[in-house]
Amino acid sequence: MIDKEIFLCSICNINSGTCNEDCKFCSQSVRYKADIDRYKQKDIKLILDEAKTARDNGALGFCLVTADKGLTNKSLDFVCFIAKTLTIEVPELRLIACNGTANLEQLLTLKKAGIKAYNHNLETSKEYYPQICTTHEWDERYETCLNVNKSGLVLISGGIFGLGESQEDRISMLKSLDSLKPSSVPINFYHHNEALELEPNPLNINEAFALIKKTREILADAHRIMVAGGRELMFAERQNEIFEYGANSIVIGNYLTTNGRVISKDLDMLKSLNLKVAKKVK
Ligand code: SF4
Repeated sequence: MIDKEIFLCSICNINSGTCNEDCKFCSQSVRYKADIDRYKQKDIKLILDEAKTARDNGALGFCLVTADKGLTNKSLDFVCFIAKTLTIEVPELRLIACNGTANLEQLLTLKKAGIKAYNHNLETSKEYYPQICTTHEWDERYETCLNVNKSGLVLISGGIFGLGESQEDRISMLKSLDSLKPSSVPINFYHHNEALELEPNPLNINEAFALIKKTREILADAHRIMVAGGRELMFAERQNEIFEYGANSIVIGNYLTTNGRVISKDLDMLKSLNLKVAKKVK
């Protein structure tokens, strides 16, 4: 089932740092006053530039991310406007939306505007979730993923490791994810920001490699296991080894509030490993 080619994805925070929720790992919450860029709506020209850069560097996926608990009428209109514009201007990209909790009607509206997939992560296990967020419930997240499957959009769903969760929590999250049958599973490794209350990520590199492998094993039906945020920090000089453990997708360029490494370094890494970049979505 696993695709052998490496799928590249780029993420674009079309609104940033304005969320009222209290997710303890998230520097975009207004509660923690992290030193990040905060804005309501990114200029369409900047979004177009980022989309073209992503395409020119071989990305197939382009993810439009909003920092909010879920879609509002206003943010839905904005995402749809961008999706329609990008569909015309940069048709090579497969558009993904990542806008928090969403109902079926909202998802169908996104689909009509040109969005092909929706990313909503479970983040951690149902049992551990109250420790990292008190302003909304894990069940709402699961429900949104079910809505994505109902809508006919492709589901992308994963989580974050290194939030202080136990190994049982990690397995529980992976089993919950498998029950949703996502096409792609982004796994993130917590990148500590000193403004956040959460302790720094306690995982060592071997534990992190083992978690990629475990994700691949449990989500055997998923087309892609993506190593997303925290890759550079967690794996440093050994990033090239993530593919041996089952990863077949990465995020290129910058993350939402942290910088990724220079894209050419990632492309050189794939070349040196004789790994081909996926040219179409399966
Ligand atoms: S809901 Fe999303 S954007 Fe808001 S604090 Fe939680 S993770 Fe961050």
